[in-house]
Amino acid sequence: MNKRRPLIAGNWKMNKTTAEARDFAIRFQEQVADITDVDMLICAPFTALSALKEELEESIIHIGAQNMHYETKGAFTGEISAEMLLDLACTYVIIGHSERRDYFKEDDELIAKKVKAALDNGLTPILCVGENLALRESGRALAFVRGQVEKNLMELTPAELAKVVIAYEPIWAIGTGKTASAEDAQEMCSGIRSTLAGIAGSVADEIRILYGGSVKSGNIASMMAQPDIDGALVGGASLDVEEFVKLVQNAR
Ligand code: PEP
Repeated sequence: MNKRRPLIAGNWKMNKTTAEARDFAIRFQEQVADITDVDMLICAPFTALSALKEELEESIIHIGAQNMHYETKGAFTGEISAEMLLDLACTYVIIGHSERRDYFKEDDELIAKKVKAALDNGLTPILCVGENLALRESGRALAFVRGQVEKNLMELTPAELAKVVIAYEPIWAIGTGKTASAEDAQEMCSGIRSTLAGIAGSVADEIRILYGGSVKSGNIASMMAQPDIDGALVGGASLDVEEFVKLVQNAR
């Protein structure tokens, strides 16, 4: 039986001022206060984390960041460390989002270091993996994603691996309105789980795997019905309070 606790994570990307973040947090919290069977998380821009800490630290809603540096401190202009995120009540951090891989040229070696640093500091990394359209159309999507999982997580012990969350996000489905079919998403997530089993054996059954890519309140239920999908990483639909509340409700 699947004992993995569902996780619905919002990724606000580069959206929301402090005031907008605070307003969202207050209204969201009011509407999901009675939901205890799904973990809820908001991954906000660094500049909004302090407001979220003030509004949500005592609530059931988790706070996360969208990136971090692997070093703890030092001469890394413009960067943020795990320690700084912990100070802002973060418990999760997204690592290796496709936008960071593509626009900021983050490679697998760097992403592996960030995952390890997050774990070493007590943050839960949400490792994003996923293929682009060319890989999907050429039939090499699963082989590519398996490779990402191996390169990004190979150095971890099984105990460390058990704490990681994976988000399978086909790049062609992010922000495009195109969603993978629930069957295709399940096939990929099942392939990811068997890759994890190859690295860490039975621990793979404990690892939460999320689907991400144009998830909305209207399509979340079909994703959650899949045996290897334990939640969602949600971009656009996490920006509107009413829609995100509905999405969480429909995920249950
Ligand atoms: C994301 O940014 O991780 C994402 C899945 O975005 P969207 O839901 O907008 O496709």
